Amino acid sequence: MQQMTLNRRSMLLGSLGIGLSHALTRVPGQAQATPKMVQTVMGPIEAKEHGVALPHEHILCDFIGAASTGPHRWDQEEVFQRMLPYLQELKEAGASTFYDCTPAYIGRDPVLLKRLSSITGLHVITNTGFYGGAMDKYVPDFAYKLNMNDMADLWIKEFEHGIGDTGIRPGFIKIGVDSIETESSPLSKIDSIIVQAAARVSVKTNLSVTCHTGGGFAGLAALRLFMDHGGAASRFIVAHADSHGLPINRKVADLDGWVSYDAIGRRPLKQHLETVPQMLSHRADRLLLSQDNGWYSAGEDQGGDVRGYIDLLKTFLPALEKSGVPSEQIQQLIRHNTWNAFAS
Ligand SMILES: [Zn+2]
Repeated sequence: MQQMTLNRRSMLLGSLGIGLSHALTRVPGQAQATPKMVQTVMGPIEAKEHGVALPHEHILCDFIGAASTGPHRWDQEEVFQRMLPYLQELKEAGASTFYDCTPAYIGRDPVLLKRLSSITGLHVITNTGFYGGAMDKYVPDFAYKLNMNDMADLWIKEFEHGIGDTGIRPGFIKIGVDSIETESSPLSKIDSIIVQAAARVSVKTNLSVTCHTGGGFAGLAALRLFMDHGGAASRFIVAHADSHGLPINRKVADLDGWVSYDAIGRRPLKQHLETVPQMLSHRADRLLLSQDNGWYSAGEDQGGDVRGYIDLLKTFLPALEKSGVPSEQIQQLIRHNTWNAFAS
């Protein structure tokens, strides 16, 4: 019932063109609260600018590993020219906001994102954090010498002063964890430290965390560890949850964490047309939809094959509506849920 009330309220507010946070600031007799915002590569935006948003996509990736990656691995101008049409196409399809989930040491290039954002008008958000998935290939050597507080301080520094000398601030935390064997198995040592550091940074900055997960057990374990260290579940997004199965998805949502179905179009349409309505009837206010698409692959000729960003809006959502999901609920998914997951 609780989420039903919230859903109705969000929908009503959405139809009036205002976000929940703005409504809250106008309660008579209460002190003015600062409106919520999302930090994009161009600066903060408010709810009314956020619009239709994709919470998990990529513009550039470099999979060579933390020891060898760096800006020397790609020609920024070539990446810009190759990826620009895909982002323009997405803007024309009705999206306003794009969360770039490429972490540091896998090709994060905030200046590239800022160039693309300023020319397309898309709001683009980058991140801070370390990616502990893929058997830690993307964790830099120096990270193993850091304790949890030192690691957190590095990310807080990026939040406060920008990434490197770019002045571009992250709008969320992106981490990754490797798979574990059972629901109660511990995460690896470095993955545990990364999750604890994410909790500390989230508590201090109110940034949300998108966590790449090597399977459902790891996602659930990471969420629980995050909460054990003071993180709010409502600030934690379990990525790649569409491969985890509904029982684990429901557990994540019941803890108040976000369930990210970010392989829309990468799995059979039929699967998502079944699981999305099932999650909607369980916790409609805890589901995110994206495609994990893109990207220019550093080291490949012209960046290799790129998957565009419009299938979710052009193919999947119309099919979802045709299958009986009301358009108001679809609007909630692609507008309000993403805003609620990231805005602080
Ligand atoms: Zn991804």
